[in-house]
Amino acid sequence: MGLARRIRDMEESPTLAVTAKAKALRAAGEPVIGFGAGEPDFPTPDHVVEAAQRAASDPVNHRYSAAAGLPALREAIAADTTRSSGTEVTPEQVVVANGGKHALYNIFMALLDPGDEVLLPAPYWVSYPEQVRLAGAEPVVLPTTTEDGFQVDVDQLEAARTDRTKALIFVSPSNPTGAVYPSEATAAIGAWAAEHGIWVVTDEIYQHLVYGGASFSSLPAVAPDAAPRTIITSGVAKTYAMTGWRVGWAVAPRELAAGMAKLQSQVTSNVCNVAQAAAVAALTGPQDAVEDMRRAFDRRRRLAVERLAAIDGVEVAEPEGAFYVFPSFEGVLGRELGGRRIDDTLELAEVLLEQAKVAVVPGEAFGAPGYARLSYALGDADLEEGLGRIADVLG
Ligand code: GLU
Repeated sequence: MGLARRIRDMEESPTLAVTAKAKALRAAGEPVIGFGAGEPDFPTPDHVVEAAQRAASDPVNHRYSAAAGLPALREAIAADTTRSSGTEVTPEQVVVANGGKHALYNIFMALLDPGDEVLLPAPYWVSYPEQVRLAGAEPVVLPTTTEDGFQVDVDQLEAARTDRTKALIFVSPSNPTGAVYPSEATAAIGAWAAEHGIWVVTDEIYQHLVYGGASFSSLPAVAPDAAPRTIITSGVAKTYAMTGWRVGWAVAPRELAAGMAKLQSQVTSNVCNVAQAAAVAALTGPQDAVEDMRRAFDRRRRLAVERLAAIDGVEVAEPEGAFYVFPSFEGVLGRELGGRRIDDTLELAEVLLEQAKVAVVPGEAFGAPGYARLSYALGDADLEEGLGRIADVLG
């Protein structure tokens, strides 16, 4: 067909695929409840939408702007990173991208060469391995399980290190597990990376969504020796209910930031100015909505854990961050459900969609067969109804 090998070898994003399928079934009249994509059900706060409306009326925003981002947004991101992550950064270190996913793509393209290895703790978010491969490098997967709290330690990292190890992807709070590394563990991992000259790509998109006694710690803040080789990535999507606006960013040492800006100057030019203006308002305006949404997610988190734990064969570790729960369904595998034997979580996800009209993302997508991910960022009524249906089918 002439399709390039890199596209033939690539998987479609399973999180987006599950979400698209659930939406299509709903549009066709099926009462499907989607636990697929991690997407807050709340509207974007009013003051952010109003800022975008004003920006859309200003002709200055009808034109191209700097590829690396509007100066006001780069400043706001630098100030926000300094405040929330605790690492002093300047606007020149910031590159605004079309969502966190695009920021990650820029990072891998600017950092990795063919043959480089990237340590990737599993369960991992679906796009990391594919993007690493697109850059010609090799993801080296480090499995973790419910028993180790879905966290890698320095011994595991050290055992996987070779002379080709270029970078580690470090994510806390984690998508898909909701695990939050304690600050001492984060510091130890950062110190190990610094000692061996390994870059750290740290995805902080869920930093404001932590619950109970857990607290977020940013790797370069607790391991300052690692800071010169650390890239922070984040965005407005999850914190401000702005998934559709597509504004994310990378904060990197200057040379790397300039490399990403150069890439963007050839590939996408600037991110939509109106969306950037909205992101400025989100970062610099009132933050009350962030806490209100966090509280709602926390309430839903507890409900999801309670309901799932009550199902025979389901084992669920309490997530401490993000808005996902990642139960093990090992105890359900091998059972007959509605006349069909379930051998893996891919089949389980199919059966849940067919019989419970509930969409979940199978663990296989995250490098963790036997598990499935449920986002609890959906409305309370849907959450109750969907969990009830899962219990009915599995119970
Ligand atoms: N990051 C979200 C998720 O994991 C959005 C979908 C995606 O981009 O993968 O569901």
